[in-house]
Amino acid sequence: MKTAVVTGGASGIGLGIAERLRGDGFHVATLDLNPSADDDYAFQADVTDPEQIAAALDAVRTKFGPVAVLVNSAGLDGFKRFGKLSFAEWQRVIDVNLHGVFHTIQAVLPDMVEAGWGRIVNISSSSTHSGQPFMAHYVAAKSAVNGLTKALALELGPSGITVNAVPPGFIDTPMLRKNEQAQRLGGTVEDHIQRTPVRRVGTPADIAAACAFLISEEASYITGQIFGVNGGRNT
Ligand code: NAP
Repeated sequence: MKTAVVTGGASGIGLGIAERLRGDGFHVATLDLNPSADDDYAFQADVTDPEQIAAALDAVRTKFGPVAVLVNSAGLDGFKRFGKLSFAEWQRVIDVNLHGVFHTIQAVLPDMVEAGWGRIVNISSSSTHSGQPFMAHYVAAKSAVNGLTKALALELGPSGITVNAVPPGFIDTPMLRKNEQAQRLGGTVEDHIQRTPVRRVGTPADIAAACAFLISEEASYITGQIFGVNGGRNT
């Protein structure tokens, strides 16, 4: 049984991915800021802190063995007019969304290199296709994650490791509903459904299905790809 680590696995898309991979027969450990206390597979780590990641992964390895699959879903959004954005706010969003991915990949890489097999999927954002006003820090960070994905795919392919990104668009999670409530979506979720070609909101299971495929043996020839899952909102 292979071990998969999903960051941000306590909520939304990450939770959907963790559930799907468990169903597909992986040991799935989740890394979160606030993990559930009564879940043996939930570990505490702030992805911006390499020491916390190392401690959590030591515990994961002791319980379940080396890490074969990493899905980076932990993320932090932010809304601020660029002229009003402080450098501290810019840095925090870059830190969680980009540097967090740097830290987790570096931490699991030795396991994958040693095994000669690995799968990394980075959850970026459809805003990297479209841009998004008032989210310059977030779009910059997620676009960098797409770039990191492409560069690492070339570097790690010879080691048997694939690296892909899934940029979700408009997925029904606590993050989306929080933004609907704060009137940051430019309309309700229902309004957006009418503008979405497939006429529905996406679900964490939609993203999980894409991840499950990219992680599968069948996808071993797919790497460095930005695999959009967005109901046709971005083509
Ligand atoms: P969510 O429900 O807010 O889940 C995000 C998870 O990440 C939460 O469990 C959160 O923990 C965790 N997290 C945040 N900062 C962390 C940190 N520093 N260290 C460890 N864990 C941290 O959001 P979601 O909608 O599922 O988003 C998942 C990913 O998809 C994110 O990367 C997001 O940017 C991306 N995305 C989502 C959408 C969408 O439509 N929903 C669209 C584009 C991209 P806490 O709750 O404890 O903070």
